[in-house]
Amino acid sequence: MKNKLLNKKITIIGLGLIGGSIAMALKEKGFTSITGFSRTKSTLEKAKSIKAIDKIASSPAEAVENSDLVIICTPISKVKDILIKIKNHIKIGCVVTDVASTKEEIINFAQKISPKQVIFIGGHPMAGKETSGLVNANKKLFQNCTWCLVPTTTNTARGMEIVKSIVKKLGGKPLIINPKIHDEAVTTISHLPFILSAITVFLACKQKNWNTAQKLASGGFRDITRLAGGNTQMHTDICLTNSKNIVAILNSLTDEINKLILLIQKNERGKLFQFFELIKIQRKESLCLMK
Ligand code: NAP
Repeated sequence: MKNKLLNKKITIIGLGLIGGSIAMALKEKGFTSITGFSRTKSTLEKAKSIKAIDKIASSPAEAVENSDLVIICTPISKVKDILIKIKNHIKIGCVVTDVASTKEEIINFAQKISPKQVIFIGGHPMAGKETSGLVNANKKLFQNCTWCLVPTTTNTARGMEIVKSIVKKLGGKPLIINPKIHDEAVTTISHLPFILSAITVFLACKQKNWNTAQKLASGGFRDITRLAGGNTQMHTDICLTNSKNIVAILNSLTDEINKLILLIQKNERGKLFQFFELIKIQRKESLCLMK
């Protein structure tokens, strides 16, 4: 299996932060046949010049010809379009996966449109950065990261084994997960944090004393606003492809904020203290579980 894996023909579509990092990590592990396609010619040329890919393709259809494994690493909102463009050009038994941060919508679409011979397995590496593009790609990005794998109705045991082996080669830890549970789980641990981060920056910048506040801002402001500096297209796509869960969590947030407002207005020192104390314990417990 080991050498067979290294000789597999792999196609990566979308050579940005995640696609570029996958390509670089696979090349480092000794994979010999990686074809790349990306939107911009200069990205493709750069990927070839740094030896992240072996071959440049001029279209998604050309990129997947004879491929054993296709990894779609475009923005979430482009994945469906890529699936449509490649579906009639994939060879029998080829495994297709993606890395998109939301899963239910893409999985439903892939199951509906994939021809019988295509095996689609959803993927999502729980790794990333606030920067984007090939220029920020890093072959070590996936070291020890949990990599969600979402089986579909097109799934086969062989297909899942191939994707799992590739994830392990990249340094990731595969976790099989249902798409609905995935999207619900990432709403609180990933989506709510970047929304709160963005709102904090928005409110800070529009306050009338912002010029002074800017001079006072230090570690706390930097920590909570870090995620707001992330990939704008990804944040927009996430909001629109996980809308039900995000709207629900924002409604809960509004309820919790309203409760806090009441405690503050009523000068409820004891209840406020209890609230922050409880949250401190819960945070400590949740961080322990993360290890
Ligand atoms: P990124 O750095 O912006 O890379 C996306 C790349 O896709 C761009 O470099 C662009 O390439 C290419 N692209 C755009 N439209 C395309 C199209 N129609 N056809 C082919 N290529 C196209 O974004 P990213 O962070 O790598 O995100 C990619 C995927 O990974 C997203 O689905 C995201 O949800 C997921 N993800 C991201 C993170 C994270 O933290 N960033 C973590 C886990 C998963 P050009 O340079 O050629 O224009």
